[in-house]
Amino acid sequence: MFRLIVGDEFAAAHKLSICGEELHGHNFHVWVAVEGNNLDANGMVIDLRLLRGWLTEILKELDHKYLNDLAYFKVNPPTVENIAKYIFTNLNRKIPDSLRLMYVEVWEDERQGVRYYEGCAT
Ligand SMILES: [Zn+2]
Repeated sequence: MFRLIVGDEFAAAHKLSICGEELHGHNFHVWVAVEGNNLDANGMVIDLRLLRGWLTEILKELDHKYLNDLAYFKVNPPTVENIAKYIFTNLNRKIPDSLRLMYVEVWEDERQGVRYYEGCAT
């Protein structure tokens, strides 16, 4: 089994509904992992540029945005938890059946982040 990990980042602002929270921004760092068993003729599970491209496409929708204004985050508060779930759900739609999306990690800074996964993935 191979686990491939790619990362990217985006900058965005949000305001959470907890008491005293001000509007503020983060440079979010995102890591995603996929697993697959089979290598293609090039010796790859998947071309990492493809995987990174899909991730970048999704992050473009969030980059330099006020997250509270986006439709998804009007229904789901723009916490780092919901940001990770949003990226997972959208990326999972692009991942071919031969691979499994294991997790999406979103870090607000070097001290705190969230890993989102479904089922028993770690
Ligand atoms: Zn924040």
